[in-house]
Amino acid sequence: MMDFHCHLDLYPDARNVYAEAQKKMDFVWLVTTSPRGFAATSKVLRQTESIVVSPGLHPEVAAQKASELELLLHQMADTVAIGEVGLDGSARYRQHFDLQTQIFSAVIKRSQSLGGRVLSIHSRAAAKEVLDILEQFPGFGTAVLHWFTDSAPLLRRASSMDCWFSVGPAMLSSANGRKLAEIMPMSRVVSESDGPFAKASGNPIMPWEASNVAEQLSSIWCLPVEAVNAELLRNGETLRSKLTSKTVHGS
Ligand code: MN
Repeated sequence: MMDFHCHLDLYPDARNVYAEAQKKMDFVWLVTTSPRGFAATSKVLRQTESIVVSPGLHPEVAAQKASELELLLHQMADTVAIGEVGLDGSARYRQHFDLQTQIFSAVIKRSQSLGGRVLSIHSRAAAKEVLDILEQFPGFGTAVLHWFTDSAPLLRRASSMDCWFSVGPAMLSSANGRKLAEIMPMSRVVSESDGPFAKASGNPIMPWEASNVAEQLSSIWCLPVEAVNAELLRNGETLRSKLTSKTVHGS
C-alpha cells in the first residue's frame, strides 16, 4: 500500500496514524504545508525508509506564510522531495494569486538550480499557470500533480510534459475526476489519500485507504483490479526511487 500525498502530521492522532502507517504501509509521502511546519513535524514524525517527510508552502496559506519562503528555499538544499506547493486560483484564494505565483516560481527556479527536485503540486483552478511556470524552468525535476481537477486539454498538456498524477478516492468520487482519470497516462499514476483534508463518507481518508483507488480505476480503465494494483505498485516503486534518491535527477 502506498500513499503519495498525505498530511499525516495534521490528523488529530498523528502519532498513532504514523505508527500504524509505519507498520502497514510500503510507502507514505508526508507533505507539509509550511516550512516551519516541516521543521517541527520532522522532529516528531521522523523520516524512515518507508515514510518521506517533505517541506512545502501550501498556496492556501501563501499570505500567512510568505515570510517563510527563504526557509523553504534553504530546506530544499537537503531534500529531494518537496511539497505541498503550487497555485490555487479558486475564488477563495485568488486574491493572493500574485503572491502565490512569486512563491511557486521561486520554488521551481530553486529546484532547477539545485539540479532537479520531485514536487507534489496543487493546481486547483490554476493548472495552466502551474504548467506555464514549470515550462519556464527546464530541468526543475519531476512534477506530481495531486488531485488534478482542471480540464482535459490541460491534463493532456501536463501529460506531454511528463507530469505524474496522484489520485485519491475523493477525486474519483466526482464525475469530472473519473473523466480525467480515464485519460491520464497509466504508467504515471500513483495513489494518494490527501488525508485528513480529503474525506469519504464524512471521515478523513487514512493513508492505508489510498490504495482503494484501484477498484475505481479498474472500472474506469476497464482492467482487472489485480492489473491496476500491479500497475500502481510498479509506478509507485518508480516514483519512490526518485523521491528517495540521494542524488539529484531530471524527470
Ligand atoms: Mn494536500
